[in-house]
Amino acid sequence: MSRVAHPAGPRHGDVLPADHPPTPPADLNALHPAIWPRGAQRVGGVLTLGGIDVRDLAARFGTPALIMDETDVRSRARDYVDAFGEDAQVYYASKAFCSRAVLRWVTEEGLGVDVCTGGELAVALSAGVDPALITLHGNNKLPAEIEQAVTAGGGHIVVDSYEEIARLAYLADVLGKRPRVLVRVTTGVEAHTHEFMATAHDDQKFGFSLASGAADEAVRRVLALPGLEFAGLHSHIGSQIFDTGGFEVAARRVLELAGRIHLEHGVHVTELDLGGGFGIAYVPEDDAPEVKTIAAGLRSIVASQSLALGIPVPRLTIEPGRGIVGPSTVTLYEVGTIKDVDGIRTYVSVDGGMSDNVRTALYDASYTCVLASRSSTAPPMLSRVVGRHCESGDIVVRHCYLPSDLAPGDLLAVAATGAYCRSLASNYNHLPRPGVVAVADGSAREIVRRETMDDLLRLDVG
Ligand SMILES: *Cc1c(COP(=O)(O)O)cnc(C)c1O
Repeated sequence: MSRVAHPAGPRHGDVLPADHPPTPPADLNALHPAIWPRGAQRVGGVLTLGGIDVRDLAARFGTPALIMDETDVRSRARDYVDAFGEDAQVYYASKAFCSRAVLRWVTEEGLGVDVCTGGELAVALSAGVDPALITLHGNNKLPAEIEQAVTAGGGHIVVDSYEEIARLAYLADVLGKRPRVLVRVTTGVEAHTHEFMATAHDDQKFGFSLASGAADEAVRRVLALPGLEFAGLHSHIGSQIFDTGGFEVAARRVLELAGRIHLEHGVHVTELDLGGGFGIAYVPEDDAPEVKTIAAGLRSIVASQSLALGIPVPRLTIEPGRGIVGPSTVTLYEVGTIKDVDGIRTYVSVDGGMSDNVRTALYDASYTCVLASRSSTAPPMLSRVVGRHCESGDIVVRHCYLPSDLAPGDLLAVAATGAYCRSLASNYNHLPRPGVVAVADGSAREIVRRETMDDLLRLDVG
């Protein structure tokens, strides 16, 4: 399993030494096509998203706001479906950003939905997602969550511990259901952006280790329980991975287990779930692999290795989260103060911060930002975009170049904030969490309402 234990990061290449900022881009107004939503453009110098002027979006919905391009989300969902083909199934990992509208869009494009908690499951069911297309993950699912999922029925439950196998069998018996089970396997693949390596010991909390034989034993236990239907194997090696080799090594190892299961039990693994983790570009230097390339590599390995092992080719499943919603969304902020710190750099304070994007503070993640409410030909100014929280680590964009005529009241847009920003948002310093606004074809609507101070005060019942 990956050393990258957290869904949202970290990855090599994210940290730039403070004395080595990137060089200024040739054109401060340019929108790098790999980083911005597919429909983003400048019209008369002003950034438009889904055909709407960001000044109008800010006036109508306030700032900070996450602006999500529906067309972009749908097109990326279709990219995965097209690349992996008819016989595969793509699940959207809803923890990246979980809302009913987004779950409806992706299921309309043919995706299933991954959930890790009863909360995400409740959103999926209330969005009308077919329970047969919902997979429940988690290393410590509560009995009530297992019950909720088994009762909804049809989908997969990914078992992650021996206790859970027993617990699931007991609950399934009580409920009179026979859930389809995937066994989560820890492959020992250590996934990085630029390298991967095999580790003998898998020192993290998820799954059953292949190396120790725990994965074989978990499959034995599931098969011994007639109340459970063994459907297949699951592996998820990490997140924001650029090197497709890591996925391929993991696929090979899980297929070897499928071969052993066939030999030992005469049972076919019908589902092979290779997880998510496909990296996206946050900054121009990021060279994210194309979905087509990842798909072609995985499909050919699954086909050739199944043939070599003499087992039927299992159905391939993947679970992208970031790759579906990450690039679709731009966070709009209003500039409040601009402080030049002794010729080192300029600190640009915006009206949000680590409460709406904690990835920079937590992982030294890199982001791209531009002046959005107008274009400018002023010379570049080395900047750091910071929030309004009482932490010096409250940084949104560590290094960027902004035009030197930047002024309070200007709007800044930070790109690729669709995944793990709103879902990791907090109310630190009692800031209401921003809303999420969907844009498409010139119209805009809130899909997650902006919180108000009343929302926060209502919780304070002391
Ligand atoms: C987080 C997670 C994903 C999605 O990861 P991304 O990096 O967002 O693609 C998929 N599967 C599982 C089991 C996960 O925990």
